Amino acid sequence: DAAFAAEAKAALIDKGVKYCLPFYVDVNGVPKTKTVPINHFDRMMTGSELFTGAALEGLGQGPQDDELALHPDSSHIVPLPWRPEVALIPGNLKYRNDPWPMCSRTILKQQMERAEKLGLTFNLGIECEVYVVRRDDAAENGIAPNKVEDDMARAAYDLSSTLLNFEFLDEVVSHMNAMGWDVYSFDHEDANGQFEFDFAYDNAITTADRFVIWRLMMKEIARKHGWEATMMPKPFADRTGSGAHFNMSIADLETGRNVSGDDADPRGCGLSKRAYQFIAGVKKHAPAIVATTCPTVNSYKRLIKTGSMTGYTWAPIFISYGGNNRTHMLRVPKLSDTQKSTAGARWECRAVDTSMNPYLAAAMMLAAGLEGIEQEMDPGDPIAVNMYELDNAELDRMGVKLLPRTLLESIEAFERDPLGREVMGEDLFKSYVDIKTQEWWDFHNHVSAWEVDTYLTKF
Ligand code: GLU
Ligand code: MG
Ligand code: MG
Repeated sequence: DAAFAAEAKAALIDKGVKYCLPFYVDVNGVPKTKTVPINHFDRMMTGSELFTGAALEGLGQGPQDDELALHPDSSHIVPLPWRPEVALIPGNLKYRNDPWPMCSRTILKQQMERAEKLGLTFNLGIECEVYVVRRDDAAENGIAPNKVEDDMARAAYDLSSTLLNFEFLDEVVSHMNAMGWDVYSFDHEDANGQFEFDFAYDNAITTADRFVIWRLMMKEIARKHGWEATMMPKPFADRTGSGAHFNMSIADLETGRNVSGDDADPRGCGLSKRAYQFIAGVKKHAPAIVATTCPTVNSYKRLIKTGSMTGYTWAPIFISYGGNNRTHMLRVPKLSDTQKSTAGARWECRAVDTSMNPYLAAAMMLAAGLEGIEQEMDPGDPIAVNMYELDNAELDRMGVKLLPRTLLESIEAFERDPLGREVMGEDLFKSYVDIKTQEWWDFHNHVSAWEVDTYLTKF
């Protein structure tokens, strides 16, 4: 309302904000905006900014159609610590005052409302992995890790690599905390130039908003240093990929109490009945879900066991769940005594990567989980073994299926599963299938240097 708008505007001016950048994301999760000088704040908050043309690609509007109006979310205004003159505001698209069914954020909101009908909130924390690279003509594909001491094959938690990059890391983390995200740790990940940032979970919409802003921020700050932050899931064939593990929990809508845990859980993971049902729903729809959580050609180069690298990738390839076991798609982290009982209980999906549209990914995940709860589905017993060591006969005996191995496989699964249509609605569903199928064929129809090297003289 007017009083709120006046107050919010005054607070922003007070902070030195001169421009607002309300944004929505396209089908790939890439944010789009118009820059609005702060004196037009009130109009902007009522949906004055209209969008058309190429920025709506995949969102159903052609050049002959009316514009879509962006309605910024007044509860999530984010002044940027590294650009004090700018505030970002995620928003929802409308068409002539009706929610636009192809708006990703609206799609997630619809699933959140479905959870609310069951008396639940869906909370989400995302573990943000990222590569920071530099252009190097001498390196393979022209990219190399940003700043490294030597050619360590595996740099997980390496302290001197952390210190070597500390100014950059401090800069990034200070901004995240200034935005109120409460970073609880960050580290050097498994490969040179790879980092991870972990911050407090929140409701899935807020976390998805933050993930979009995080990607943007990483790129901005890295460029200041002459580097490139990349969220392509697998920039280097011989190193681990960048996951964006979803840490999920459900809470009571009224009290906010986490209802995911149960200390007396007979299955031993410490989860409640509804948490297991959620997991069952995710398992059932896993191949379709990964079309959104691992949505690029490159995503499937991460979802391997070892490939050309030394050691394991720590990325999932099976549709399975277990306790504190990182070889499953779904892992239930073991809680320390202080996290125990109700507060910290959660389950993690590892089949998610940094190239996702977080709103669509979370919406698909939640829809599958809610189906599990609504239909009281059972996920079977957790599996305790190292999945990477099982052969196909053992997997068959255990009834464990593989995740899709290419974008084509996952998009075909997505097309066949009614869940995608249910979550995205007919128009975005079709558009998503078309765009992603085309992306696959664009890749596949390209004859690579590897093929020429391998086959040209051989045959
Ligand atoms: N980078 C790994 C992945 O692609 C995850 C490593 C970890 O467990 O943090 O999922
Ligand atoms: Mg990690
Ligand atoms: Mg994790």
